[in-house]
Amino acid sequence: MTYDPENIFAKILRGEIPCDKVHEDDTTLAFKDINPQAPTHVLVIPKGAYESMDDFSANASDTEIAGFFRAVGKVARDQGAVDAGYRILANTGVDAHQEVPHFHIHIFAGRDLGGMIKRA
Ligand code: AMP
Repeated sequence: MTYDPENIFAKILRGEIPCDKVHEDDTTLAFKDINPQAPTHVLVIPKGAYESMDDFSANASDTEIAGFFRAVGKVARDQGAVDAGYRILANTGVDAHQEVPHFHIHIFAGRDLGGMIKRA
């Protein structure tokens, strides 16, 4: 699969559409999900053009990967999510229903998040 530069998160990164930003650094942007599934629902994305966790983990530099995952932890702390707990999730590909083909991690917090995965 080739990275689609017209995906919605690529447009957010280029400033073509707005986002409710909560964090930005050299490698990473984080913003509130437009359709929140929990009181805290933040998306963390690398600034580089990676379509999925598979692409990112295989092809991003060590600097990008370290910066990204440090940012995920910082955003969760900044959101006040550590004490009660939080969940991170990265939908990857068809079976996981990945909707936006730019790698992103969801951070959910602010309520009991229930079981880990829907039973088949
Ligand atoms: P996924 O199914 O993991 O690809 O999730 C994509 C997420 O992106 C969904 O939770 C959407 O609500 C969210 N989303 C889509 N468009 C926007 C947007 N413009 N700003 C913020 N979140 C968005």
